Amino acid sequence: MWQGLINKYRKYLPVTDKTPIITLCEGNTPLIKSVFLPQYLGKKLNIYFKYEGLNPTGSFKDRGMTMAISKAVEKGMKAVMCASTGNTSASASAYAARAGIASFVLIPEGKIALGKLAQAMMHGATVIELEGNFDEALKMVCAVTENYPIELVNSINPFRIEGQKTASFEIVDALGVAPDYHSLPVGNAGNITAYWKGYNEYFEISKKLPKMIGFQAAGSAPIYFDKVIEKPETVATAIRIGNPASWKQAVAARDESGGFIDIVTDEEILDAFKLLAEKEGVFCEPASAASIAGIIKRKDIFKDGDTIVCTLTGHGLKDPDNAILKSSKPIKVKNSLSDLIKVIGL
Ligand SMILES: *Cc1c(COP(=O)(O)O)cnc(C)c1O
Repeated sequence: MWQGLINKYRKYLPVTDKTPIITLCEGNTPLIKSVFLPQYLGKKLNIYFKYEGLNPTGSFKDRGMTMAISKAVEKGMKAVMCASTGNTSASASAYAARAGIASFVLIPEGKIALGKLAQAMMHGATVIELEGNFDEALKMVCAVTENYPIELVNSINPFRIEGQKTASFEIVDALGVAPDYHSLPVGNAGNITAYWKGYNEYFEISKKLPKMIGFQAAGSAPIYFDKVIEKPETVATAIRIGNPASWKQAVAARDESGGFIDIVTDEEILDAFKLLAEKEGVFCEPASAASIAGIIKRKDIFKDGDTIVCTLTGHGLKDPDNAILKSSKPIKVKNSLSDLIKVIGL
């Protein structure tokens, strides 16, 4: 029986027999083979989606949170806090509820997807909306947790990265080898850091390292432009970050792996978001689709036979507003069989 990623990958993680394992059986997410994209791109590619939306709270954040909350409880902490564009707060509040401790989440004003807010509220977090953006919220959280007995559970907490690196282990375990390329969205840059760490630690098994290719939203691309973005903008709220906490580590992952970090526009992101749902049957959130928009944009670098894994970081149900905006509206019909048949086009 699957008992969560700490149980499975214990020997690669900083836990001991004394660590209370707080788990919701996260991890073990499917690697779904793409049927549409290779033909769309006109190449014989093996493209896989690591569908992290199927974690317990609907995003990859659960991988890091099972570690961060377990270690916080081991330390005797009674409360945790995070700044969040949404998914970190959803995950932190769920794992805190599971552990029986308090959670405080600081969200940027007005820019959080509805599903994520509902989650944090349901799990009993104290939700605080800051008049400021994510980067400002993170600064505040650091100031609070440095001075009060509250554990910080943003990805600058090193245990978050430890948990998140297990996604690489699962990919290698599933494929038997590391892919040629690993594509993912980049926001605060913890995940690209974690994947690269994971692939390196699993080298004894994979004997190979992928090129890490990261994609930022064009309006929130500090790493790509090599400068802090004061007012980051993008429809993909999960990557609406102007000053990533793991900036240096992301650049190291890019350079050590021989990969790159590029940008994709909101239009490219939303087109990939829709394409994935319509042509592959996989519903992810807009930020996740940056990994797909990216490989579409950079298709010329891939050659026949290459294997590409794209992380789909969160579930589409998180952000119903953008999904509805991007789709055609329901068709209204009278309570009449002939009208219905007409609408169906028979
Ligand atoms: C957190 C998050 C990201 C960004 O991950 P980073 O580790 O901050 O780069 C991307 N997509 C989704 C859905 C997220 O929740």
